Amino acid sequence: CGIVGYVGDKQAQDVVIEGLRRLEYRGYDSAGIALVDGGTIASAKKAGKLANLEKVIGDQPLPPSTTGIGHTRWATHGAPNDVNAHPHLGSNRRVALVHNGIIENFDDLRARLEADDHTLVSETDTEVAAHLLELQVESGVDLTTAMQRVCQRLQGAFTLVAVDAQDPSRVVAARRNSPLVVGLGEGENFLGSDVAAFIEHTREALELGQDQVVTITREGVEVTTFDGAPAEGTRYHVDWDLSA
Ligand code: GLU
Repeated sequence: CGIVGYVGDKQAQDVVIEGLRRLEYRGYDSAGIALVDGGTIASAKKAGKLANLEKVIGDQPLPPSTTGIGHTRWATHGAPNDVNAHPHLGSNRRVALVHNGIIENFDDLRARLEADDHTLVSETDTEVAAHLLELQVESGVDLTTAMQRVCQRLQGAFTLVAVDAQDPSRVVAARRNSPLVVGLGEGENFLGSDVAAFIEHTREALELGQDQVVTITREGVEVTTFDGAPAEGTRYHVDWDLSA
């Protein structure tokens, strides 16, 4: 189970797939990617090895994009199949979301969404969060505020990373009892379950604290609590020897 996010000037697909490859050691049963492309989300996901996902996007290439997220799944709710693989999208395909962990109150949230005419297509605990995030951004708030509000309604352990088709400038993530690290670049920034996801690109990292939301843009990184109050992660330099 791994998570990658990227915004910058490189092709996000390359950065995300390479990051997922670097996280393969964590184990997984499916993989997926979402890119922001001119007001829409382009996504692909596939059960099995990363090579299966690469074949899908080899046969049906995704559009160029410099904003993207990726996921390797270790299924907890729902079989390891293509539909349950992440990313999950809201009803209007405006928000795409990837998740590591377990949303414990997903049953209750799902029942409420379904009572409100939302159709959920997967068996995952994750999909509710994609719908809730999309409802928030459609109400007019930015993805950062949307993430803060949604996290306040979630119970369990989660790392969430999301993009909004209407706002290619940012990738927003959150964590509770699940790992999340930011990679600090020049004119680009990264998100990962651990630094392996971006170590090729930068060794400057920022570890998020519990119950924090982080927004990355090309220019910077902003951290808040789930309540929206300013917060700080912990800066460090990664001094692994990659040749070892
Ligand atoms: N609970 C989610 C699922 O089953 C995420 C699992 C994971 O951590 O990869 O889809």
